[in-house]
Order: sequence, then C-alpha cells, then structure tokens
Amino acid sequence: MTAQSPLLCVRDLSVSFDLGSAWFGPKKELKAVNGISFDVAPGETLALVGESGCGKTTLGRAIVGLYPLAGGSVTFKGIDLTKGANESQRLARRAIQMIFQDPYGSLNPRMSVAKVIEEPLEIHRLGNKTVRRERCAELIGQVGLPVDALNRYPHQFSGGQRQRIAIARALGPEPDLIIADEPLSALDVSIQSQILNLMTGLKEQRGLAYLFISHDLAAVHHIADRVAVMYLGRIVEIGPRDQVFGAPRHPYTQALLAAVPKLGRGRRARGTVLAGDVPSPLDLPKGCAFHPRCPKAQAICQQTTPDLPPHGGEHAAACHFPD
Ligand code: SF4
Repeated sequence: MTAQSPLLCVRDLSVSFDLGSAWFGPKKELKAVNGISFDVAPGETLALVGESGCGKTTLGRAIVGLYPLAGGSVTFKGIDLTKGANESQRLARRAIQMIFQDPYGSLNPRMSVAKVIEEPLEIHRLGNKTVRRERCAELIGQVGLPVDALNRYPHQFSGGQRQRIAIARALGPEPDLIIADEPLSALDVSIQSQILNLMTGLKEQRGLAYLFISHDLAAVHHIADRVAVMYLGRIVEIGPRDQVFGAPRHPYTQALLAAVPKLGRGRRARGTVLAGDVPSPLDLPKGCAFHPRCPKAQAICQQTTPDLPPHGGEHAAACHFPD
C-alpha cells in the first residue's frame, strides 16, 4: 500500500450471529467474520474475493454499520466509527456509501428515480430542494442516463440501468469510499463490462476508493489495486493484485485462480484443484480451516491455525507452507 495515511482501517473485526439453541442443547453461534484486519488507501481499490458464504458480504455490511461487531474496530479518516455516536462519525459515515448486489431489490419501486437519488441528500441535509434536484440531474448524467430518466420509476429500466441509478444514488453525498457488494453479479455479461468501466472511470475522475466485493476474479483483475482472499471468515491472502494473481502463495488462492481458465493459465499443472465442500462455519475444522481440502496439508495444519503475518500492504498468506 502507499505511504499515505489510510482512508479506512479495519482492525481485528469479528461478526457473530446468535443462532439460538435446540431443546436443552448448547447455544449456537456462527462466526461469520473472524479477526479481519486491512487498510484501504485514498483512491485505492481493494477487492475482497472468496467463495459464496466466506463472509465477504457480512464484512462489507459490518463496516457500514448494518451488522453489529462482535469485536474489533473500524476507523475512517482517523475517526473510530465503532464507539459512541457524534457529528464527526455522522460525517464520516456520509463519506462511505454502499452499492448492493441486486439492483432489482435495492431501489424502492414506489419512488421515482429523482426521489431515489435525492433521498440520501435529504437524509444528510445537503442543499435545499432546488439544489438537490440540480444535483440529481448532474448525477444521472454522470452515470450515462438521460435527464428524463429522473421522472420514471425503477421498474421501467433494465438491470444495468438500475445499477447505474444505484451508483448515482451512492455518488450523491460525494463519498470518498464506496463499498460495492457484488455489483455485477445480477447483470448480464454484456452489461457487466459497462458497469465495470463506469466504476473505473468514476474512480479516476473523482479519486474514489472502492472496497469491491466479488467472486468474479476477471472483474477483480480489471479493477483492483490490491486483493484480499477470504476463506470461512478470515483473510488467507492479501497483496497487490499482480502479485496475488501472478504468484499466489496460499493453496486456496491457487485453486481459485486455477478454476478461471483465462487467469489461471499454466497454474493448473502445479496448482491446486479445489475439491470437497466448504466446511460448515458452525463446525470449523481445528487448525487451518482449509486443511480438509488442501493437498499440501501436513500434521501441523490440523492443529495450529496459521495467522496472517503483519503485511503493511505487502503480499502475505496465512499458511504454514506458503509458496
Ligand atoms: Fe494447506 Fe496447511 Fe497452508 Fe492450510 S496451513 S493452506 S492446510 S498447507
């Protein structure tokens, strides 16, 4: 990572869900995210990747306060967002906006597009009605839709156009960081590249940082500066994109890349083919959670959980035998 102060600091963040208990049985707790730490620099895109259920969406939602933390902290521009509630925290939260996976469900069908985009401006008390409407017209143009789109309703648009509207809504409060949770997965392949190019262009024009949550490694390769790979609630590898994609150190990352022919070319021979099912997060294996699926596993892997070494933005893997 660059030498400048980080925009977002996540430290030792954990999120758990209480699943209650069966009759006379022990209480069940699902550790969805466990001891995650990373930074995002201004203008940087950090991608969070991993199989479905690895905790990446939960992590994104916990950062914006949609889920309570079981432990750890989230600091934005030096302001701790996890303790108390004051004006500087409110302003910091305004500078973090989120784009959700499903542009069909995330936009209120009863609101006109103008209202959808204006709502966060109203919530954050930004400008009067006239100023806000002018801003909506500016924003809809920035995402490549005509101004008359403001008078229509979300159901009158395609999935790609709805995701553009969601991006316009997120841009309204002039954020420094956008958390994009699988922003492409509900879209047709032909539309995905348009939205990806739009996000890349906005990043360059506005100096935006993204936390880009995705299982689509080709999209991640296109947009990310750094990549963090998650497995069962933990980061198992993190580093600059070209190092993670070009010389993955963790067997899980090697297996993920080997499964994408274009990106994993040449790795299959020396790499790992991902076999077996993901263990239940309610009953995690002892030691390295990847050991039941790992071809390199040795005795220590079944006993001792490998920590992610302090990395300071460099390439690191949580493995006893990294490549
Ligand atoms: Fe495989 Fe052991 Fe490394 Fe886990 S710690 S990824 S089981 S080699």
